[in-house]
Amino acid sequence: MSAYDTLMAFQRETEALAQVAGRLGWDQETMMPRGAAGQRAEEMAALEGVLHARRTDPRMGEWLAAAVPADDAAAAQLRLIARAHARAARVPARLAQDLARTTSLAQGIWAEARARDDVAHFLPVLAQVIALRREEAAALAEGTGRSLYDAVLDDYEPGASAEGIGAMFARMRPRLVSLRERILGRPAPAALEGHFPAAAQMAIARDLATGFGYDWGRGRLDLAVHPFSSGAAHDVRITTRVDEADPFNCFYSTIHEVGHATYEQQVDPAFALTPAGAGASMGVHESQSRIYENQLGRSRAFTGWLFGRMQAAFPGMRPGDADAFYAAVNRVRAGHIRTEADEVHYNLHIMLRFDLERALIAGDLMPGDLEAAWNDRFAADFGVAVDRPSHGVLQDVHWSVGLFGYFPTYTLGNVYAGCLHAALRRDVPDLDAALAAGDPSPATRWLADRLQRHGSRYLPAETIARACGGAAPTEGPLLDYLEAKFGALYGL
Ligand code: ZN
Repeated sequence: MSAYDTLMAFQRETEALAQVAGRLGWDQETMMPRGAAGQRAEEMAALEGVLHARRTDPRMGEWLAAAVPADDAAAAQLRLIARAHARAARVPARLAQDLARTTSLAQGIWAEARARDDVAHFLPVLAQVIALRREEAAALAEGTGRSLYDAVLDDYEPGASAEGIGAMFARMRPRLVSLRERILGRPAPAALEGHFPAAAQMAIARDLATGFGYDWGRGRLDLAVHPFSSGAAHDVRITTRVDEADPFNCFYSTIHEVGHATYEQQVDPAFALTPAGAGASMGVHESQSRIYENQLGRSRAFTGWLFGRMQAAFPGMRPGDADAFYAAVNRVRAGHIRTEADEVHYNLHIMLRFDLERALIAGDLMPGDLEAAWNDRFAADFGVAVDRPSHGVLQDVHWSVGLFGYFPTYTLGNVYAGCLHAALRRDVPDLDAALAAGDPSPATRWLADRLQRHGSRYLPAETIARACGGAAPTEGPLLDYLEAKFGALYGL
């Protein structure tokens, strides 16, 4: 066997074990009995130890040095393996295991604290997670001249920097704030009203998943507090949540997670259980979930079909006509919760988190001061006070599991989705006719062909540029889309 084949065989086993770790994570949030939390933390730490040993195996360096790629795809695999190997080699095994164990426990403590609105219950373990992530970031950044935050950001969006993202957010902010203020100066459209039993919601959620191309032969749908998608290739699972007063929560969470899941399912099967066999970055991943959820799922054409489907399932539902229903789907309000935010407010939620987590990782903000900093910033940006911690600093799971540097990828995903949507509309001019019939497949096929099948073969920005015909991604198309859509909806 050549060095390349030996390396890929070893890597395939590592990828398989990483999928097992992912399945444990899925189980923890869906099926695991509460009393198993401590044992699960040990299981995750043990598996992390095995993974870390494989990723830092000295033979990897030898194989990488000797491997000769046969083609461009093989060269991409080597680039990805070398990157992961170099990263793992910088992090001591003890630290990798401490992080796995502490974040597994912290997630459970966060869930308790959120349920009880008790920030003090969460702070000690949050401080531990931050200290471990800072230690890891220092190991990753050592000798590179990068900041601690750039080192953690690189885990989710290779090639991005805090400076670049900060500059882009600064360009976006005035246009978003202006749009928000003009909208809030107009009369609010009627909200959805009616009785929406859980079983009927789940039936529609399953139809939506099917319509958006989710392959049930390689997936399943369960309930979770915080909807997510997990897995790759032949086992990609999604979760959703049901609120009987608000079916849009269930429907749009489902479409969102289907966007993530179909991305994984559509990657070239030849890449299964290899480094290229997953999404290119969190930002690119989020672009897929966002374009499914927003540009397609919340379009006038598709909501026209959804209106009919919901009218049949929920007799007496209001509003009673498709245009007012479209306005209800896209209602703009300064709410507390990021995952329930409209398209206009969403990126302002991200900018708040980006600034706070940069300060936490830099050591400029102490965990004990986080809640006050959050509440002050929220009041300034949204014009309403945070009424309780579960509507504020405790609402998101991310920091409990060590996901610092992750939040900005949500807005990057929106920006990428804006670029992809503009290119999609140019290439598929009659898309609205299919969407109006409840059929997003011309769009999902375009995304599969132009982007999803490549997996991680190309760097994130290149992945988007290739799909869009070569242009580098910028925030312009997203902001143009938002101003056009909401300008028309609100008569601005
Ligand atoms: Zn997402």
